[in-house]
Amino acid sequence: MNRSTRERLGLLAVLVFPVDGAWLLDPGNRQAARGDNLSFDYLVVGAGFAGSVIAERLARVYRKRVLVVDRRPHIAGNAYDHYNDDGILVHKYGPHIFHTNSREIFEYLSRFTAWRSYEHRVLASVDGKLVPIPVNLDTVNILYDLNLTSEELEKYFASVAERREFVRTAEDAVVTRIGRDLYEKLFRGYTRKQWGLDPSQLDASVTARIPVRTNRDPRYFTDNYQAMPRDGYTRLFENMLDHPNIRVLLNTDYRDIRAKARSAEVVYTGPIDEFFDYRFGPLPYRSLHFQHQTLDCAVFQEAPVINYPNEHPYTRVTEFKYLTGQKHSKTSIVYEYPRAEGEPYYPVPRKENAELYKRYKELADATPGVHFVGRLATYKYYNMDQVVGQALKLCHKIAGASHRTIAPFREAS
Ligand code: FAD
Ligand code: UDP
Repeated sequence: MNRSTRERLGLLAVLVFPVDGAWLLDPGNRQAARGDNLSFDYLVVGAGFAGSVIAERLARVYRKRVLVVDRRPHIAGNAYDHYNDDGILVHKYGPHIFHTNSREIFEYLSRFTAWRSYEHRVLASVDGKLVPIPVNLDTVNILYDLNLTSEELEKYFASVAERREFVRTAEDAVVTRIGRDLYEKLFRGYTRKQWGLDPSQLDASVTARIPVRTNRDPRYFTDNYQAMPRDGYTRLFENMLDHPNIRVLLNTDYRDIRAKARSAEVVYTGPIDEFFDYRFGPLPYRSLHFQHQTLDCAVFQEAPVINYPNEHPYTRVTEFKYLTGQKHSKTSIVYEYPRAEGEPYYPVPRKENAELYKRYKELADATPGVHFVGRLATYKYYNMDQVVGQALKLCHKIAGASHRTIAPFREAS
C-alpha cells in the first residue's frame, strides 16, 4: 500500500459518529477533516470481498461516492491476512486459497494484485497414515495397502458404492461414490465435527464440494486459475479501496449508524437475519475458533493442510508458509476448532435453513434501497470467487439501473 492510502485508512479508522449527525474526527485529527466531502451515494456495510468489490466498481466505474463501514478493526473480511509478531504472513480467519474457473473474475482481481502460482494440497490423518484428499488412487492404495490401477479402482468404487434413488444428503453424496468404509474413515467424523451435525442431516452440496478421482492427481482444486495474491489479501483490498471516492470507516457497526443512513442506498454484506433483528428467529451459522501458533522450526508438517477426520477436537492444521511461499526460520500454523457460537463463518446448508432464509429473502426483496450480497447476506456457502462474481453482477444491476436521487448521507437525520 502506498503511504497516502495507509494514512487514509489509518485516519478513517478514528472517524466517529457524533450525536448531531455531522461527521467528526477525534480531536487530534479534526484538522484533517476540514474540506473533506463527507456525503455519500452508497453506504456499503462490510469490507470483505462482497463490500469491497461493490465499493470499487461503484466508485471507479459509476463515479459514486461510497462509504464502507466494517465493525472489525481491519478491511478484507475473512480473507484478512497480516504479518504476525514473528514477521510471518498468516491468515487470521483460516486458510484462504484463491481458485476460479472464471477468467473474468481472475482478470478483475488482477487489477489489484500480482499473483503467486499455487496449487493446494491436503492430506488426511487416518489409521496412523497420511493420505491425499480428495480421495484418489493413492488414498485407497495407502489406506488398504493395495496396488490397484485406475481401472481396478473404478471397479472397486462400483462394487462398494451404495445405490440411492436420489442423492439428497452429504452422506448420500459420499457413499454413492466411494462406499461406506471410506465415508466412515474420511468424511463422517470430519463433517460431524465441522458442522455439529451428522452428514445425513446436511445437503449433498456440502460433501459434493470434494471430488473423487481414480488417477493420482493430488491437487485439492482443479480450477483453471489457482493462485495466491503475491503480497497478500489485505494488500489486494487496500489497492481495491484506494480511490478518492471511497471512504472506509472501521470499528463501526451498521446497527449503530443505520438511523443516520436512511437516505443513502445501502449495500449490506453482514448476516441477513441480524439485519432484520432476527424477526423470524436466528439463522444457524457455524463458527470456528482459530488457534494460531508460531514454532521455532522451519517446517512443521508434510503438507499445507492436514485434516484430522477422527482424532482431536480440531478439524485441520494449516502451515502458512506453504501457501505464501515465504522463507523464514520459524513457521506459523493454525488449528481450527468448530463451534456453534461466535462469529458467523459458514451458512449451514440444509432444508430447514434454506426455508428460513427464504423468509428473510422475501423481506429483503421488499426492502427498498438496500441490496444484500455476499456469503452471510445471501446465506450461501460461497467461495471467494463466487462472492466476487455475485458482487460484480449486483453492481451492474444497481448502478446500471436508474435509481432515485439520493440525499447526501450526512444530511440524513
Ligand atoms: P466476509 O468476508 O465475512 O465480510 C463481511 C464483512 O462484513 C465482515 O468483515 C464483517 O465484519 C462485516 N460486517 C458484518 N456485519 C456488519 C455490521 N452490522 N456492521 C459493520 N460491518 C459488518 N474461500 C475460497 O475461495 N477459498 C478458500 O480457501 C476459503 N477458505 C475459507 C476458510 C474459512 C475458515 C472460511 C470461514 C471461509 C473460507 N472461504 C474460502 C470463504 C471466504 O471467506 C468467503 O467466500 C468470503 O470471504 C466472503 O466474503 P464476504 O464479503 O461475503 O463476507
Ligand atoms: N470434508 C470431510 N473430510 C475432509 C474434507 C472435507 O468430511 O477431509 C467435508 C466436510 O463436511 C467439509 C466439506 O467436505 O465441511 C467441505 O470441505 P472444504 O474443504 O471445501 O471445506 P471449507 O474449506 O469450506 O471449510
